[in-house]
Amino acid sequence: MTPEEILMELIRFPSVVGQPNTAITSWIAQYLESLGVEARILAGPEGDRANLFATIGPRGVSGLVLSGHMDVVPAEEPQWSADPFRLRAEGDRLFGRGTSDMKGFLAAVLALVPTLVALKPTRPVHLAFSYDEEAGCRGVPHLIAQLPALCAPPAAAVIGEPSGLKPILAHKGKAAARVAIQGRAGHSSRPDLGLNAIHAMGTVIAAAEEAAARLQDGPLDSVFAPPYSTIQIGTIRGGEALNIIPDLCRIEIEARAIAAISPGALLEPVREAVAGLRTHGFHTSWQPIAAYPALSLPAGAPIARLLSQISGTPPLPAVSYGTEAGLYQAAGIDAIICGPGDIARAHKPDEYITRGELAACVDLLERLCTEFAQQTP
Ligand SMILES: [Zn+2]
Repeated sequence: MTPEEILMELIRFPSVVGQPNTAITSWIAQYLESLGVEARILAGPEGDRANLFATIGPRGVSGLVLSGHMDVVPAEEPQWSADPFRLRAEGDRLFGRGTSDMKGFLAAVLALVPTLVALKPTRPVHLAFSYDEEAGCRGVPHLIAQLPALCAPPAAAVIGEPSGLKPILAHKGKAAARVAIQGRAGHSSRPDLGLNAIHAMGTVIAAAEEAAARLQDGPLDSVFAPPYSTIQIGTIRGGEALNIIPDLCRIEIEARAIAAISPGALLEPVREAVAGLRTHGFHTSWQPIAAYPALSLPAGAPIARLLSQISGTPPLPAVSYGTEAGLYQAAGIDAIICGPGDIARAHKPDEYITRGELAACVDLLERLCTEFAQQTP
């Protein structure tokens, strides 16, 4: 099948984040099996969704991981010109949810499989396709945890997030949490009898602002914009009416950390402020949403050198979005971002990839895998 035909099939599955994904994993597994490649469907703890892993070449040798996520963000924006889950061509552009982020990369990888099989590589190429990446990289940690049982420790991983096919060495880490504060309702004329959850959340907000302000002083890493770690509250909900003491207030908060800083640790002062409210009679909850570490690959790492030599582009120091690459790196696998399309088109109506970008990706991956397969492990 051509990359475009495969992309058409992949787009047809509305594999929206947070949903069961049996349909898309089964299709990919059947496609691989038709080429003589065994696909392992690795169910996550949710039971109804799975990662997919396949190896071309000898499992006992240190290989190269081609990594991508199968989930997409919802496509409910009314501005879509046509059905987002039906691939639509217009000139060189192929429209559909996930074309750039990142089924285009998956299609390029899958289209390359017959070539890889024929190559009989001495070092294996692994396909590692994950679920629920868009919910904060929830699926891939389960796949990474199973790697020791699946293959020899891989030498490197290419994460095909849209980067215009430029190799990228770094991104910030992230931790996010949902916070709820429960007080006691009552009539607004008697605030002395209630416990105002919005007022209480005020102290949490102040703690978050203070922690965020301190981060601006450093530590600093100039590859990132801004060069320091950040904290931000993104949502707040609370209160029913002006004449009722609000008994519930919720926020969602995130921290983004430069390399070598734990994103979860950045939220600690905020977490303490939340816990402190309990001594004032409030019930509180702190529910982690997502966490992944920063990526920071040295420009001299073998995979960085190989990719920049093949692509003819020196690696870019950093991107502002997060990926699964930080998790691979934390597992001791050199990880780099390099994929077709443009992140600016992701998560938007009329997301697209061009036929040229798709073809260039297949070409780049073919040269990368061929080079890699010939290296001595
Ligand atoms: Zn993505």
